Amino acid sequence: MDKKTLFSKLPSVDKVLSNGCIIELEKQYPRSLIVEVIREQIDMARKKILALAEGEMESFDINEEILINEIKDQLKLKYALKLKRVINATGVVVHTNLGRSPMAEEIKEDLWLIASRYSNLEYDIESGKRGSRYSHLEDIVRKITGAEDVLVVNNNAAAVMLVLGTMAQGKEVITSRGELVEIGGSFRIPSVMEQSGAKLVEVGTTNKTYASDYEAAITENTGALLKVHTSNFRVVGFTNTPELEELREIGDKYDIPVIEDLGSGVFIDLSKYGLSYEPTVMDSLRKGADIVTFSGDKILGGPQAGIIVGKKKYIEKMKKNQMTRALRVDKFIICALEATMRYYIEEEIAIKKIPTLRMLTYTIDEIEEKAQRLHGMIGRLGIAAEVNIEVGHSQVGGGSLPLERIESRVISIVPESMSVSRLEESLRLCEDHIIGRIYDEKYIIDVRTLFDEEYEIICNQLKNILG
Ligand SMILES: *Cc1c(COP(=O)(O)O)cnc(C)c1O
Repeated sequence: MDKKTLFSKLPSVDKVLSNGCIIELEKQYPRSLIVEVIREQIDMARKKILALAEGEMESFDINEEILINEIKDQLKLKYALKLKRVINATGVVVHTNLGRSPMAEEIKEDLWLIASRYSNLEYDIESGKRGSRYSHLEDIVRKITGAEDVLVVNNNAAAVMLVLGTMAQGKEVITSRGELVEIGGSFRIPSVMEQSGAKLVEVGTTNKTYASDYEAAITENTGALLKVHTSNFRVVGFTNTPELEELREIGDKYDIPVIEDLGSGVFIDLSKYGLSYEPTVMDSLRKGADIVTFSGDKILGGPQAGIIVGKKKYIEKMKKNQMTRALRVDKFIICALEATMRYYIEEEIAIKKIPTLRMLTYTIDEIEEKAQRLHGMIGRLGIAAEVNIEVGHSQVGGGSLPLERIESRVISIVPESMSVSRLEESLRLCEDHIIGRIYDEKYIIDVRTLFDEEYEIICNQLKNILG
């Protein structure tokens, strides 16, 4: 056989399109995509033939069935969404790269109804007139935090920008040098402030700032006193930061508003559950912040959002700011946030229903039980690997509680006939995208961040890869 004969055996695009299996695929995929994939596959076969050496031609076969299967596989790959679920086996609960907070399971029904049908997003059902999208969250946020008013925008970075842009446009904002943080690579307090049109006035030093430093920097052009929670780092040792109450006193003396950016605002005092104390949103308001900003999808456990709570007179102005229109949240966010907030009416329910809080508050016995379960399941697979339960440490993540290492139990796996890095790669690239880590030349799965149904998935993939 020669190349010319082989080329002539290649089917035309039209011929492949008329194949029964391909016609069936048109129910699932757009026709244009099917045609594109068929073209590519035929083209690939043509290139293969071109590259054949003399002796290889006899054995080369153009098999339509193989071609069709390849087309099916390619279509599946090309049509798959690029944003997909992964399994977080890292033990970092609020994992910035893996979508931060996973939301509560039960929200899905409310969310789907609002997403797929019409809603009263900007409609007041009682009066039959136009309403505000921000009104839906007012009652619940007031009930939980005691704040006078609330405004929700896209994320906390936007919240800080809007707050400063509304309350201190063209004015000076006094902030401690020790709190001029960069968060997540692109959010820098000094840059955000510049963008908002406020002028940064730095006081104190990196490790020590006193209330008197703030007071000494006040001029007639001071717009606000800002306190920023240094989420992702700590200055330890010889340090001082003024308490919010002290800033409140100065604020009252000079009639200047006090703003606190809490970062990962929490509603529950987590020190009750063995974690370090993090100031709650309620604490900030109680201690005298006029405005507090925080994220919806860090420890709070809801959707991505920037939540602004505090005095009505300031929030009313923010609602009227033109920038708010550009930062506004859509109906999914409002729905998901309201549904998440509802759990907080009862602390016990919040801890149970919100995955982020549940993961952060497992007792060591619960974690031990989970590790035993996964260890047992993997043991029954009979794979060629050494599998052990070890003591490990999880992290809160999301720039929260940076020094906090939460004791956990991890499964360590050392395969007999495959490198640990190969195992890590195989689990990461497999259909279920299991993201673990390598430590001390072992593959590590932290059970803290696993959902129940993921144990089985992990076992199936381990069997596929090592079985
Ligand atoms: C995380 C964080 C932000 C940014 O919040 P996003 O929701 O990521 O926009 C701002 N300030 C502080 C203190 C933070 O920790």
